[in-house]
Amino acid sequence: MDVHLLEATDTPERVICTAARNDYSSSFVGEQSFESTMEPVEGETIEEKKRTLIGRLLRHGHFGPFEHVHATFAVKGISRSCMAQITRHRHVSFDIQSQRYVSFDDIDPEDVREGELVVTPPSVSDADWIGRNQQSGSVSEETLEERERVFKESVSRSVESYQQLLDLGLPPEDARFVLPIGSKVNMVMTLNARMLMHVADMRSAADSQWEIRRMTEQVLDLAGEWCPITFQHYEKHMKGRKNRLAP
Ligand SMILES: Cc1cc2nc3c(=O)[nH]c(=O)nc-3n(C[C@H](O)[C@H](O)[C@H](O)COP(=O)(O)OP(=O)(O)OC[C@H]3O[C@@H](n4cnc5c(N)ncnc54)[C@H](O)[C@@H]3O)c2cc1C
Repeated sequence: MDVHLLEATDTPERVICTAARNDYSSSFVGEQSFESTMEPVEGETIEEKKRTLIGRLLRHGHFGPFEHVHATFAVKGISRSCMAQITRHRHVSFDIQSQRYVSFDDIDPEDVREGELVVTPPSVSDADWIGRNQQSGSVSEETLEERERVFKESVSRSVESYQQLLDLGLPPEDARFVLPIGSKVNMVMTLNARMLMHVADMRSAADSQWEIRRMTEQVLDLAGEWCPITFQHYEKHMKGRKNRLAP
């Protein structure tokens, strides 16, 4: 899996602060400098003022201003299972790589055993992996070998059957019915900063599945570079408190 920041609102924290100051200013924020807009906020420098205001907004649950700034991420190689989880979030916009118009006819089923085209969950090869809804953690070497064998054979056989069906003239949109839910997909998603924090509340939580949690952590790292004051505050004071932004 790989996550890239494609595009994002320029100077997002100026936008957030301007929107918030609009709510409490008698003057019109559209006709004055950012410095004038921020003048009443405590702080020696403009950076300190932004930190003061953003911290106050997040502490008091004044989340509206964070809806004005957006980021677009390109995500490579998540499973269709993970894709089904993230696309439940209704305020995120998505583009998903199609299995109707993209056919995977040139993949060698032998490579699928080694992770090509289908995501291999860590529990397949980690004897000590403990997942949610699992009775016990550790398994013997023999069980682990058997797990790996069954998993690899199954995914490789699925891709082989898929390609046979393509050869037999089935359109990709129908042949795909035999592909596993672990099949990899690329997607592009756009969300605002409030929604990003909500998704992180739900999907970086310990009860989320490892894959969407990893994706969310990568998104959060990139968000921290894009909108640093907001996401530093989020990481330090808010992360882990489930459903804080849409209880
Ligand atoms: C650990 C975990 C396990 C899950 N297991 C399952 C499962 O087994 N089966 C399953 O179906 N789903 C499951 N989900 C998905 C979950 O139920 C939500 O559908 C998903 O996380 C979207 O989040 P959200 O409800 O906050 O909505 P979002 O679409 O992210 O919307 C954000 C907020 O907007 C508000 N909102 C949006 N739309 C509406 C609306 N129509 N009416 C009222 N308020 C609205 C709500 O306050 C909502 O919290 C699971 C999620 C997690 C994190």
